[in-house]
Amino acid sequence: MQNIMITGSNRGIGLAIVEQYLLRDDVHIFACCRNPQEAHALQNLQQSHPEQLTLVPLEVTSQASIETALQTIQSHTSSLDILINNAGVDSGDQSLEAITAELMLEVYAVNTVAPLMISQVFLPMLKSESKLIHISTSMASLSGRTYGGSYAYCSSKAALNMLMRGLASDLRNKQIITIALDPGWVRTDMGGQSALLSTEESADGIVTVIDKLTMNDTGRYLRYDGTESAW
Ligand code: NDP
Repeated sequence: MQNIMITGSNRGIGLAIVEQYLLRDDVHIFACCRNPQEAHALQNLQQSHPEQLTLVPLEVTSQASIETALQTIQSHTSSLDILINNAGVDSGDQSLEAITAELMLEVYAVNTVAPLMISQVFLPMLKSESKLIHISTSMASLSGRTYGGSYAYCSSKAALNMLMRGLASDLRNKQIITIALDPGWVRTDMGGQSALLSTEESADGIVTVIDKLTMNDTGRYLRYDGTESAW
């Protein structure tokens, strides 16, 4: 039995990852989202898979909410095999002319700070060979940054990649595997309808990559198809 926690799982890529794992029998998924009462897709999945899915309220920018989610999940299991920091935002006008300090901090709170604080709080639930996944993006690549705009999003995810590298070092002696994972360009509210991949294609790739991870992979920045992403 694999215990899996996913943040931001009520829609988009997070929801598709939940659906991919539910194709298996030997999983229990802690599907985290801000408001389970309004998460109708997750509620429907919970009804069809009552033994495999637990909905957990989690506002990732709230320390109190993270700690309450820890208590909730610990009342079901003592450890997690996979923790996926997926929740993310790419909001507002981030052009050079329009970007504000407030918007920078708002985006960093979700994309950068929250994954670190969640990793810290949930560390007691991670054990040898647990996998700590940070959903990043190709837009986090410094070498690929040959375009302007998107100040908050690109830099928040580049900082997430940097945090992941620190975690990879700190968690190596505990044999906890951590990576940054680019899901590709995906048709979601964030990715838009012109994106190249369906949520199913992306989630299928993500789950396959996670399945194959070993300690040799810790600290890597991979794409959903298993290839290396350019730093
Ligand atoms: P969506 O906008 O479709 O979904 C975002 C998810 O994050 C929602 O579940 C949302 O919850 C949740 N979320 C946002 N803020 C918070 C918060 N403060 N607390 C808890 N949950 C929150 O995005 P995608 O599914 O497309 O993106 C998922 C991840 O993939 C993100 O990290 C994104 O940066 C990354 N990504 C996406 C790409 C794409 O092409 N779509 C490309 C590269 C990376 P709610 O419904 O409550 O708002």
